[in-house]
Amino acid sequence: MKSFIDVAHDSHFPIQNLPFGVFSPAGGAPRVGVAIGDFVLDLAVLEERGHFRTPEFQGGAVFSAGAINPFLALGRPAWRKAREVIQHLLDSDMPTLRDDAELRLRAFHARKDVTMHLPARIGDYTDFYSSYHHAHNVGTMLRGPENALMPNWKWLPVAYHGRASSIVVSSTDVRRPHGQIKPPDAPAPIFGPSRSFDYELETAFLIGPGNALGTPIPIERAADHVFGLVLMNDWSARDVQAWEYQPLGPFLAKNFCTSISPWVVTLEALEPFRKPLPAQAPEPLPYLRAPNDFSYDIQLEAHLQTKTLAAPHLITRTNFQNLYWSIAQQLAHHTVNGCNLQPGDLLASGTISGATEESRGCMLELTWRGANPLTLPNGETRKWLEDGDRLTITGWAQGDGYRIGFGEVTGRILPAA
Ligand code: MN
Repeated sequence: MKSFIDVAHDSHFPIQNLPFGVFSPAGGAPRVGVAIGDFVLDLAVLEERGHFRTPEFQGGAVFSAGAINPFLALGRPAWRKAREVIQHLLDSDMPTLRDDAELRLRAFHARKDVTMHLPARIGDYTDFYSSYHHAHNVGTMLRGPENALMPNWKWLPVAYHGRASSIVVSSTDVRRPHGQIKPPDAPAPIFGPSRSFDYELETAFLIGPGNALGTPIPIERAADHVFGLVLMNDWSARDVQAWEYQPLGPFLAKNFCTSISPWVVTLEALEPFRKPLPAQAPEPLPYLRAPNDFSYDIQLEAHLQTKTLAAPHLITRTNFQNLYWSIAQQLAHHTVNGCNLQPGDLLASGTISGATEESRGCMLELTWRGANPLTLPNGETRKWLEDGDRLTITGWAQGDGYRIGFGEVTGRILPAA
């Protein structure tokens, strides 16, 4: 499959991908588009021309909205149909869009000239803790290797409810937060800017139709409710976290800012990169078991740019397959008590660390709580992130001659106010 739009072989956005996002062209209102090479295809323009007048769309105009929530609510039949229509229109052999100069002028925008927004109105946000190596490393630091994992960890996908209002789109600056910090040898906590500012390399998925209150989603139907994935950086203030987290989990250490990438990569685009979920022992309870449960081969990286480094430096290289619990298991567990998920809810993976040192997905693990600082190519060292640092997470699935990419989620740290 090839588009009449030229796409470089290492572009994240070939015709096989077609991730959805919300953008504003210069001087225009937010609307829904897909990324193709260096362009955004304006779906509001195509919708106005009647290209989505099919039964799957139920007569609604969904792409002129400033968020993908109405599209998410339509479910997989509409998602599949939209992909089919868009791929057909972009196909190098199809004249409808290719040969219509006036339509092309209106429907394509250079990606560098548009403003990206959060893709969805996120009503609720949950962050899991689903990487074995992350949970094991952090548990080892806190309780020693014998008691690294809590007794529940291999029985259920542990999570906490995060805060949706402070989720921001990539490129938004993040300000170092203030909080209560209790130095280990001090008799009482102090108040001040966090001194151990961290990133967490994560992915997250957006919920489609969702479920009514009181009606769980069985694991075998979970994928019907997952539209697609984004990259996420769960900024964390470790000193605030260490003092506040017991007994109810993270609170102000996490909810001051969480960044996501603007382009949502669909499950359809990721289909060729499905991998079997690694064996789980002990075998999970029946409601968490599905015969063909799966993971994806998605390469993930974090790069650190300081004020003085010549170029961003790779500090984490990991893979989505390092997640122990699957998307389907996370979703089935989240709803098993009848909790209702709604279109646009965001469910995140937790920090994705692997077995090797280079695959650790946050500074907490990379420097072992500051004990082994990172040394950067220019001789600078880092125990934690510093003001002016920029952290960028990127990811892609590598196909034969093409990439299904996520673009990036990036943010720069501003000094405490
Ligand atoms: Mn997290």
